Amino acid sequence: MTGWIAVAGLGPGDEGLVTPEVSAMLAEASDVVGYIPYVARVALRAGLTAHPSDNRVELDRANLALNMAAEGRRVAVVSSGDPGVFAMAAAVFEALEARPDPAAFDIRVLPGITAMLAAAARLGAPLGHDFCAINLSDNLKPWDLIERRLRLAAQAGFAMAFYNPRSRSRPHQFARALDVLREECGGGRLISFARAVSTPEEALQTVTLAEAVPEMADMRTVVILGNPDTRRIGRFVYTPRVAG
Ligand code: SAH
Repeated sequence: MTGWIAVAGLGPGDEGLVTPEVSAMLAEASDVVGYIPYVARVALRAGLTAHPSDNRVELDRANLALNMAAEGRRVAVVSSGDPGVFAMAAAVFEALEARPDPAAFDIRVLPGITAMLAAAARLGAPLGHDFCAINLSDNLKPWDLIERRLRLAAQAGFAMAFYNPRSRSRPHQFARALDVLREECGGGRLISFARAVSTPEEALQTVTLAEAVPEMADMRTVVILGNPDTRRIGRFVYTPRVAG
C-alpha cells in the first residue's frame, strides 16, 4: 500500500500553535478529512481535496480515510487540539480493528496542543500538580459513570479539566456536574472557564464553585477545576507543585 494516513491535531485555534510537523504533513497530503470547522482551518491548494463531514460520524470518517489510503491517497485526518484527546485518533484505530488487514496500513498520529494545556498556559499554572481530563459528554458513556468519576477524582484531590462541558442538546447535565462538584469540594474551590482559547473570541473567567453558573460554559469552553491548594496570584491561577 503506497497511501498513508496521518491523524493530526491542529491545536486550539491559533496558526502559531500548529506544529511544524503537522504543517509539513499537510503540504504532502492529497486529502483532508474531518469535522467541517476543522477542515475549514486547513488552507486548500491545488492537489488537496477536502472531505468535511458533520459531527458524530467519526467512524464513517475513519473508514473513508482508510479506504482512500488503500487506494494510494495521502490522507490527513484532522482534529482540533490533539487528535488523541477525545478526537479522531481512537476512532481511526477502532475502524482499523474491524479490518482484515490492519497491518497493511501506514498510519501516523501527529500530536497537537490540546485545549486544556492551551487554557492552562493562559491562566497561569492551574494544572501544576496531578490532574485528570474528563469528557462531560454522555454520547459515548452513561451519565452515571461521569458522575462517579467526578466524585472519585474530587475525593482523590485531582485538579480536573472538563471537555465538552455543555451543549444545547444536554443543557442540564453541566448544572448537575457543578452540584456534584460543590458537594464533594465545597464552594470555595476555584474553577476557570476558558472559551475559544487562542482565537479572537478568547475569554477567560475564574470564579469559586459557589459562584459558578452553568451559563459560563458552552461547547467552545474548556473548564478547569483547581485542586484543594489552587489559588490566585495577581491575575493568574496556580496550583503549587507540593501537596499534602
Ligand atoms: N481534540 C480536542 C478536543 C475535542 S473535544 C483537543 O485536544 O483540544 C471538543 C472540546 O474541546 C470543546 O467542547 C471544548 O471543551 C474543548 N476545546 C477545543 N478547542 C478549544 C479552545 N480553543 N478553547 C477552549 N476549549 C476548547
